Amino acid sequence: MSHKPAPQPDSISQAYWERLKQGRLSYQTCRACGQRWLPPALICPKCWSSEVDFVDSTGQSRLLTWATYHRAYHPAFADSLPYVVGLVELCEGPRLMAGIRCDDPRELRTGAALKLELESRENGFLVPVFVPDLAAKRENHAD
Ligand SMILES: [Zn+2]
Repeated sequence: MSHKPAPQPDSISQAYWERLKQGRLSYQTCRACGQRWLPPALICPKCWSSEVDFVDSTGQSRLLTWATYHRAYHPAFADSLPYVVGLVELCEGPRLMAGIRCDDPRELRTGAALKLELESRENGFLVPVFVPDLAAKRENHAD
């Protein structure tokens, strides 16, 4: 188990993190206008409706942008250097910041297909991280 910090859910994000403990990455949708988003919120960020639901994501996604860290800003990340944090867009639309696991950060490309993995933290928490989806890459090259 990693000693990286565990999430600290609040009343708004509690359901999000509980679903992740079950292996389900989810985002929120609005029953009134159909908007989809992350991170979790009490009301729809578009129309302010409180009629919001969680929906599971497939985890299929793409990399929009990223930063490669060569210095650990938390001691628990020192053994992971260099590590990558990216802005990920789920195929369902919502975006989130997450760790990106890869052999060589120099090989990352904007728009690269990613898939979801879950990283264990203390107290049973699972944190979403993404890895290059090599199968999706092969499909793209066949086009
Ligand atoms: Zn809405």
